[in-house]
Amino acid sequence: MGIDEGRIRRLVLAGVAAAGEGRFLPVGVSARHVHLSEADFKALFGENEQLHKEKDISQPGQFAAKEKVTVKGRKASLENVRVLGPFRKETQVEISLSDAFALGEKGTPIRLSGDLSGTPGITLTGPAGSIQINAGLIVAERHAHFSAEQAKAFGVHDGQKVSVRIEGRRPGILEDVVCRVGSGHELELHIDTDEANAFCLANGSLAELIVPETGRMVMPEAPSPEAKKALSPPEKKNRPESGPEGPAVPAKPPWEGKEIFDLLTEQEVRAAFKRSEQKVYCSKKAVITPAARDAAAACEVEIVRLSEVETKKWKIE
Ligand SMILES: [Zn+2]
Repeated sequence: MGIDEGRIRRLVLAGVAAAGEGRFLPVGVSARHVHLSEADFKALFGENEQLHKEKDISQPGQFAAKEKVTVKGRKASLENVRVLGPFRKETQVEISLSDAFALGEKGTPIRLSGDLSGTPGITLTGPAGSIQINAGLIVAERHAHFSAEQAKAFGVHDGQKVSVRIEGRRPGILEDVVCRVGSGHELELHIDTDEANAFCLANGSLAELIVPETGRMVMPEAPSPEAKKALSPPEKKNRPESGPEGPAVPAKPPWEGKEIFDLLTEQEVRAAFKRSEQKVYCSKKAVITPAARDAAAACEVEIVRLSEVETKKWKIE
């Protein structure tokens, strides 16, 4: 028996995650396949037949069988679709969206494995006969598998939706990746062939797990440490004595309670204008898009960076 490289890799990646040095998932690309109930298998392959293992796959206990079927849609058929073992309670056919179009089965829903209520059926053909299943045709929802221990190392829980960042020739971020945690699961991000091709990914590629907020570049509710520093009142020695003739330094910084943007686009400027605000506030190193500057000029909204505010000691009102 050879060295299980996949297992070694998962151990290393879980160790790296536990050490807080990056949460990387190995990618597993799922080609179209079917899971069969024992009764459906017998109808397709014969009463006395059984599944023959071709090779193990990453998820414990599951394997690719030598057996293949034809999936027949309204418009076309897909031949040599691999059967995965062992038998399942219900037959399930997993195809890509491209396959759904080719088959003439455009309504195929995106579902997690096993969530088959209300899904369409399809015709399957094997060497011993054909069957029409009433439900079970799906496009698999993107998901990631974790053992309980791996989930701990990665800081995720069962059912949680996370994002993953892809680097390389076609970089990008995949959102709404459902975490599936428990025994019977092994560290792997599962996507289908459409998604793999869109991001130039192959089996064994790495994807980085990121928190959804980071992926969407949404400004956190709480100000960043840098913004907090800028928000704190100036040193006491600089603060003038209050009195009837004291300078008009407001009691609160004018941006208190306002959002401080790290990325300012036209959208935020227009939203501020709609709220009748004359200023929008950005962090020191914020990215301001050209369209945001144009919109600010057109709406007469002033873009204020916190660094400028700091030097003026609030005297911007
Ligand atoms: Zn999976």
